[in-house]
Amino acid sequence: MARYHIETYGCTSNRGESREIERRLRDAGHYRVDGPDDADVAILNTCTVVEKTERNMLRRAEELSEETADLFITGCMALAQGEEFAQADIDGRVLHWDEVPEAVTNGECPTTTPDAEPILDGVVGILPIARGCMSDCSYCITKHATGKIDSPPIEDNVAKARALIHAGAKEIRITGQDTGVYGWDEGERKLHRLLEEICEIDGDFRVRVGMANPKGVHGIREELADVFAEYDELYDFLHAPVQSGSNDVLGDMRRQHQVEEYLEVVETFDEALDYWTLSTDFIVGFPTETDHDHDQSMALLRETRPEKINVTRFSKRPGTDAADMKGLGGTIKKERSKEMSAVKRDIVGEAYAAMVGETREDVLVVEEGTADSVKCRDSAYRQIIVQNASEHGIEPGDFVDLEITAHETMYAFGTPV
Ligand code: SF4
Repeated sequence: MARYHIETYGCTSNRGESREIERRLRDAGHYRVDGPDDADVAILNTCTVVEKTERNMLRRAEELSEETADLFITGCMALAQGEEFAQADIDGRVLHWDEVPEAVTNGECPTTTPDAEPILDGVVGILPIARGCMSDCSYCITKHATGKIDSPPIEDNVAKARALIHAGAKEIRITGQDTGVYGWDEGERKLHRLLEEICEIDGDFRVRVGMANPKGVHGIREELADVFAEYDELYDFLHAPVQSGSNDVLGDMRRQHQVEEYLEVVETFDEALDYWTLSTDFIVGFPTETDHDHDQSMALLRETRPEKINVTRFSKRPGTDAADMKGLGGTIKKERSKEMSAVKRDIVGEAYAAMVGETREDVLVVEEGTADSVKCRDSAYRQIIVQNASEHGIEPGDFVDLEITAHETMYAFGTPV
């Protein structure tokens, strides 16, 4: 769990996004501190109205990068002129605001509260299907709060999903520390069976499966890929955090998978699905990571080309075994993180660029964005923004066909057809 400091500049839209970032960080067990000096990470939500504001943003980013271990820069200037931070040699990561909460997690799985109940937020229903995991990662503090996997029966989770859909949910987000090991405590991994039953519920909705570690997915990869291929209700999206391309580092992290198992999962999904999104996470600068290990992570990134990538610079969490290891210097971690983030931007940007000119059918409008825009998700959970939504008469909960007209690094723009 991280201590964070957040600063927000500019309009009410930026303030709304910061509130959402804070809500998600709080739900994941992180907490806010009074200033950057006490924080593990700083978040700068930027504005770019006039040139003077830009200069102020660059100056503030530089100060924060020196005061905290990790800096995340988001907001208007980050998205419109993100390269200026790199040109000014500021050591911060430029992210869409939506990506900030996951980047803060330091490779740990999300924390749900005990006996977490489903939540309906607009047309999004959050459904925690289990609590805990089957791992004991050496860098993780979440584990201390969540313990071993405890999986309620399939019928209970299906009943909760049905209630969410009846209450108006159009997107069900299946969450948990590690959704891939759902049922392991009962002797049978059964995420695929749960998904099948949820998809059979009457109604128009989509289901997004949350983080599933490669080890858990590996044992049911074929069954899972078959369910994804069969049901349109499931977004073809898999978040399987590999964390490193080196088996030595994975061993020191006490991850339960090896690189080969992750590759087999990706291969199985590639065979079953024509168009899908692989999402993964890398931790760079783990204490035992050598240059060669880092090169292996870079090679794995280039080989598998995930369309969504979270890069986390390792930082110590108190009370974990990794906190007792002799760490790498900050400069090494920063350089490796910068190198990986640059490749990430290229890979993800190319994935969105390839969508331009295509048409996507039955895209779900998930939530309102800024300035009369709406955020939508296509069948592979790629984000598409539609501007002037009220002119087009579309709102959250609608399904629309979109022509993709343009793109940014992390999302595309579309127009209803
Ligand atoms: S899988 Fe690892 S990182 Fe995730 S909660 Fe369990 S011990 Fe922590």
